Amino acid sequence: MRVVVCIKQVPSSTKVKINPETNTLMRDQAGTIVNPFDEFAVEEAVRVVERHGGEAIALSMGPPQAEEALRAALEQGCDRAYLVSDRAFAGADTLATSHTLAAAIKKIEAELGKVDLIICGKQAIDGDTGQVGPSLAVRLGIPPLSYVSKIIGINLEAGKITAERSLEEGKEVVRSDLPAVLTVLKNINIPRYPSLLAKRKAKQKSVDKLGLKDLDLPEEKTGLKGSPTWVVRIFTPEARSSKAQIYTGEPSHTARLLADRIMEIKCKGKGEADG
Ligand SMILES: Cc1cc2nc3c(=O)[nH]c(=O)nc-3n(C[C@H](O)[C@H](O)[C@H](O)COP(=O)(O)OP(=O)(O)OC[C@H]3O[C@@H](n4cnc5c(N)ncnc54)[C@H](O)[C@@H]3O)c2cc1C
Repeated sequence: MRVVVCIKQVPSSTKVKINPETNTLMRDQAGTIVNPFDEFAVEEAVRVVERHGGEAIALSMGPPQAEEALRAALEQGCDRAYLVSDRAFAGADTLATSHTLAAAIKKIEAELGKVDLIICGKQAIDGDTGQVGPSLAVRLGIPPLSYVSKIIGINLEAGKITAERSLEEGKEVVRSDLPAVLTVLKNINIPRYPSLLAKRKAKQKSVDKLGLKDLDLPEEKTGLKGSPTWVVRIFTPEARSSKAQIYTGEPSHTARLLADRIMEIKCKGKGEADG
């Protein structure tokens, strides 16, 4: 079985610099981590391969430093890793990101053979759209299974996967053809902590690099050029000063005070709304 897991390197804090011209994050100047949701995606990919044999391949689109994130995935048990990196990919929105990742997966298939399953995290903690997984499925013309909380079974002969999805209304069991794209939730597993041996083994493995010239994809579909969505402005919202007020004393009296205060705030709010 060949499983590709998509991981994103994200800023490790909200203290990030914004490029004033393009309004995109200056990712090469921010402390970085592996997107937390993607650690669960990597763990699930490694477990699927442990159960069914084959290989787990980590894939990331990002600046050269995103190689660190891929090295973490190799330590967690992935067999191979691909970094899709090119100046042309900078500032990509989710559409351009999905086109680039889809082209990279086709390149991996051309080099290694058919990909049976693609696993993404539910969302990235910076862009937070949750759009890349389902978008990728559309680009590749395969089914998306989002919000997956459990892989119930994979039947390689029949080319089928059965999974449990966790939705607001409850759980749902779905069955789909393979290949498919999964987006997984944080409660699907407990990511392993790489052993010293695993870290040493990972050091032996190389991270293959793919640029625009290696992909069958027009530059117009990548980066800012390929992005119908432009982030108009990114800013840190002002912290609201919240003053706590503690009422003490006889319960009925404090209840009266509290009720008056709530009415006061409500009327003030209504007054402001009525202008
Ligand atoms: C504050 C902010 C707001 C943004 N708002 C938007 C927006 O509204 N619309 C928009 O189109 N773009 C937006 N972007 C750009 C967005 O970050 C990029 O498009 C990004 O590459 C993917 O979107 P996302 O971060 O929402 O990822 P999500 O769709 O939330 O990521 C879901 C999963 O897809 C995979 N994945 C995502 N990115 C990569 C990658 N580069 N390499 C490998 N796997 C990946 C991971 O498995 C991840 O868990 C925003 C960026 C920022 C910083």
